[in-house]
Amino acid sequence: MLKYVGNDLFVEKVAVSKLAKKFGTPLYIYSQKKLEDNFNAYKIGFKGVDTVICYAMKANSNHSILKLLAKLGAGADIVSGGELYRALKAGIKSQKIVYSGVGKTAQEIEFALKSNILMFNAESFEEVEQINKIAGKLKKKARLSFRVNPNVDAHTHKYITTGKEGNKFGIRYEDAFDIYMKVSKMKNIEIVGVDSHIGSQILDVSAFKLAAKKMSALIDKLEANGLNIKYIDIGGGLGIKYKSTDKPQKPIDLRNIVMPVYSKYKGKTIIVEPGRAIVGDAGILVGEVVYRKTAGTKNFIITNLAMTDLIRPALYEAYHNVLPVKKSSKKQQIADIVGPVCESSDFIAKDRKFPVVEQGDFIAVECTGAYGRAMASQYNSRPRGAEVLVKCSKVKVIRKAETVEDLMSKEVK
Ligand SMILES: *Cc1c(COP(=O)(O)O)cnc(C)c1O
Repeated sequence: MLKYVGNDLFVEKVAVSKLAKKFGTPLYIYSQKKLEDNFNAYKIGFKGVDTVICYAMKANSNHSILKLLAKLGAGADIVSGGELYRALKAGIKSQKIVYSGVGKTAQEIEFALKSNILMFNAESFEEVEQINKIAGKLKKKARLSFRVNPNVDAHTHKYITTGKEGNKFGIRYEDAFDIYMKVSKMKNIEIVGVDSHIGSQILDVSAFKLAAKKMSALIDKLEANGLNIKYIDIGGGLGIKYKSTDKPQKPIDLRNIVMPVYSKYKGKTIIVEPGRAIVGDAGILVGEVVYRKTAGTKNFIITNLAMTDLIRPALYEAYHNVLPVKKSSKKQQIADIVGPVCESSDFIAKDRKFPVVEQGDFIAVECTGAYGRAMASQYNSRPRGAEVLVKCSKVKVIRKAETVEDLMSKEVK
């Protein structure tokens, strides 16, 4: 999706500098082709397997992106009532929506039951008691699976690993059978599935095999005891290429590693919940150089891209490649590329080799389609920039830039 034409960086057939000038920066730019290719890679990868691809929309919940994915047949993995609202508005079918999250409120549960979603991925016994109670009140049966923590190491950053013992997600594998049996007696609960999501930015799919083997043993035990498991949710988590040395695996690799375990089951549906792998490398964040300074031996490139626009480096020590929007023949330097916010963790890149820049030069931060704009804030009273979607040579604004008035729109004046 990204390439230099001459000295100019392009997304599909549009020059990034042209968009930056027209819409201002910070600016998120997405490639429609890349989004579609990424989604279709799941369709192709799981071809022949009865599968629902539930896009984990917390990665990027922009309405236009959801609509595009809905058209391709995507379901959604949601984590809040707000996401349910967005998913339905975008035309995602309620029967393709699964609901994850450790803290679903009564209000959210009621909304989901009334919307007739595919299933709740419950994360605690108390949550199911609540779902049972609300379903009873609504005279409905709630379809349910448990998110089970298979205690496998996904070898990813400690803040994005979720399938190891001792983190807040799911129920312990060792406790799962007993909890399932207890819950199966609840009047308004219909057990329909099992679920595990072991982490994010996973570059080695072998952890999925370990998880699958454990989940399969659980399924067999549950079915031997009279339950009917129709859905096997294997979660999301496939990684993308942030660094040139990253070797991400594809949906087909995921299929090839889990299906030998699951193919013995007939009539069950596999659910996948990719987030990052759909949107991550389909988006870039564009900003511009405000000042340059040196402090001793250190060079700083001060930009208008803050942790409020992209928090991943501050939050996860994440690496993002940064490109000059106009290819430069200037000499390379080692610099920190930082933002204007009053926090030391407000950086985009540290000790990065980058050509010497001028004030006003545009820079592009790669692979920011996932957990970029979705995690942006107005901290330091910074209005957030626009988002545009590029399809070939066409450009569509899919979110307008905020103004300073927007900052105060809900405040009492
Ligand atoms: C975040 C999340 C995902 C998506 O993770 P990615 O790494 O973006 O694919 C899937 N399922 C659940 C339950 C999640 O919380």
